[in-house]
Amino acid sequence: MRMIYLDNAATTKVNKKVLESMMPYFSEIYCNPSAAYSFATKGRIAIEEARNYAAKLIGASDMEIYFTSGGSESDNWAIKAVAESFSDKGKHIITTKIEHHAVLHTCEYLERHGFDITYLNVDSDGKVRLDELKKSIREDTILISVMTANNEIGTIQPVAEIGKIAHEKGILFHTDAVQAYGHIPINVDEMNIDLLSASGHKFNGPKGVGIMYIRKGVKIRSFIHGGSQERGRRAGTYNVPGIAGLGTAAKLAMENMAKRAEKEKELRDYFIDRISAEIPYTVLNGHREDRLPNNINFCFRFVEGESVLIMLDQAGICASSGSACTSGAIDPSHVLRAIGLSDEMAHESLRLTLSYENTKEEIDTVVGELKRIVERLRGMSPAYKAFLGGEKE
Ligand SMILES: *Cc1c(COP(=O)(O)O)cnc(C)c1O
Repeated sequence: MRMIYLDNAATTKVNKKVLESMMPYFSEIYCNPSAAYSFATKGRIAIEEARNYAAKLIGASDMEIYFTSGGSESDNWAIKAVAESFSDKGKHIITTKIEHHAVLHTCEYLERHGFDITYLNVDSDGKVRLDELKKSIREDTILISVMTANNEIGTIQPVAEIGKIAHEKGILFHTDAVQAYGHIPINVDEMNIDLLSASGHKFNGPKGVGIMYIRKGVKIRSFIHGGSQERGRRAGTYNVPGIAGLGTAAKLAMENMAKRAEKEKELRDYFIDRISAEIPYTVLNGHREDRLPNNINFCFRFVEGESVLIMLDQAGICASSGSACTSGAIDPSHVLRAIGLSDEMAHESLRLTLSYENTKEEIDTVVGELKRIVERLRGMSPAYKAFLGGEKE
């Protein structure tokens, strides 16, 4: 049985060309790029080449890109460092209720250290309301952090407008672009972005390497203290293979973004149309148009997402549910709750995230399996029977 992988928001497969570009830096070119001898130059060249690709992809200059250990580190760095560096100006930060935990838990940490955080609501499609954002700005607001696109429901935020509002008030704007970077066009100047987080393994690069974009002139403290790597702003011996791989992934994303997105969108829309037409009592979560090309998130009424996941797994299909298993208990997703779903509907939700390597045949197989699974689970559901009984009256 062949596996069908539809969990690309969790991680992606390393592209073959990416892997090839990494290999020399594990063995022949194993130098520490910070060393003084000429052998180290080869490592430095690889890093600067990767930095150039990573920068170009978002219209930044090389000097504005810093390599980190991934999206979580970049989010922590951006938010904690702005908080610490600008606390004499104010201690208020604005973010949203649908951020990744790397942002939310960082903000909760700051709350315990005297900062005041506003968590903006979103509408039923998962979009930030710009009027609510404007109203929440105060004299002491130092940072607005809103993700570019959501990892669960795929909704893309009006990032350029949010950045403009921030800049009109002299407030820094950070965006967690982990799901968007390499997938949809981003331009840090046009979108008024000061700080941006991205992660290699979410766009066919390796795990454990990420980037942090810091606009020239934005003075924030270092995150990892130690050696003088990354112009003293992020210490630690360079992850040369990881950085080289991220660079290649950025280069490939630049060359193929339009083509990949077009294919994913076609598969996504075909999937959404078939599910909507062929499985009754389903609701699409997230915005229909302003949505990541690869994101599908459905609520199947009267069936537990967790049960669907297990049965899909038995058919060799990898997907994700609308719940997160935290400390043994299954909690409904904070994102689905924020768009107005009941706990019950959040538990009935399923996320399927595509890659450019998926095929129409795979989608047909998954739709077929979903029809079979949902029908079977509903057949065992007293709530569904009661609902059907009520409908007949
Ligand atoms: C995956 C993800 C992160 C965390 O990135 P890592 O590289 O896994 O640490 C942060 N934000 C979003 C939106 C993500 O999807």
